[in-house]
Amino acid sequence: MTAQIIDGRSLAQQIRETLKFKVSALKKKPHLAVVLVGNDEASLIYDRNKQKAALEIGMKCNIHHLPEDIKQDELNNIVDALNKDKDVNGIIVQMPLPLHLDAKDVLKRISPEKDVDGFGVENLGLLLVNSSQALVTATPKGILKLIQSVEPHLAGKNAVIIGRSTIVGKPLAALLLNHDCSVTVLHSKSVGISDFVRQADIVVAACGNPLFVKKEWVKSGAIVIDVGINRCNGKLVGDVDFDNVRQVAGAITPVPGGVGPMTVAMLLDNTFEAYIKQNKEL
Ligand code: NAP
Repeated sequence: MTAQIIDGRSLAQQIRETLKFKVSALKKKPHLAVVLVGNDEASLIYDRNKQKAALEIGMKCNIHHLPEDIKQDELNNIVDALNKDKDVNGIIVQMPLPLHLDAKDVLKRISPEKDVDGFGVENLGLLLVNSSQALVTATPKGILKLIQSVEPHLAGKNAVIIGRSTIVGKPLAALLLNHDCSVTVLHSKSVGISDFVRQADIVVAACGNPLFVKKEWVKSGAIVIDVGINRCNGKLVGDVDFDNVRQVAGAITPVPGGVGPMTVAMLLDNTFEAYIKQNKEL
């Protein structure tokens, strides 16, 4: 058996095309503001990709590129000004920030209705209570769509998530619970990880350990979503031993070309949602 490859690039493209059509019908262009501090090379690439994707679907997107040595209160003031700017619908602050800055302090300043990354406590709380008002954290929202592209019936499925970060594992657990999965979240102190994974209909690996999930752990026919991005000998690899796991899984995402493109698409989807809520259009 060889797993179906879940093509995140193609699914993300379909979502962006639908968004482009919906954006063209709006009175104004939704506006995403990206705050980038310093010159981290990966962050520069990520943000330019987000900007390109936003412009391609007819949104506005400005990158506010700030100096590495910016002070906390100066950065906070910029976020406050973006909060007040009625033309701006969504705000993201690119992580990681330089070490002298307090990321939590910046993130909690972003207005919940403009928090299109869905990292803020208000949106995380709304997700937890399964409110339709939540701007759902972009990566978990994309993961859910990848899973639903191969299995629309999630009720009663056993889902195992490896990783409990606030940007992937925890919000994904809430999202899958809201879709009636039975969810287990594992982390670095978990004991017997392979035993949990063997029971899973859905495995999501988000632990940042290259090739961590092994073929022998995976139940035949399981859906395997690989969130990890690791650089090994100049090559990009995920948290799943893809070449071997694909021999037993039912469906699997590749790295690159799986979760990554969906995260960007969901960021744009959240910017669209934020615009609609703020302008009460549609
Ligand atoms: P993170 O904040 O470092 O969290 C990693 C999680 O994995 C933690 O909960 C940690 O446990 C757990 N973990 C680490 N080693 C483990 C082990 N040996 N066994 C079990 N659990 C283990 O990372 P993150 O931000 O969630 O990101 C995870 C991966 O996804 C990274 O490779 C990141 O680059 C990638 N990512 C990709 C996208 C995308 O769009 N494609 C988006 C976000 C992240 P503890 O809590 O106990 O420390």
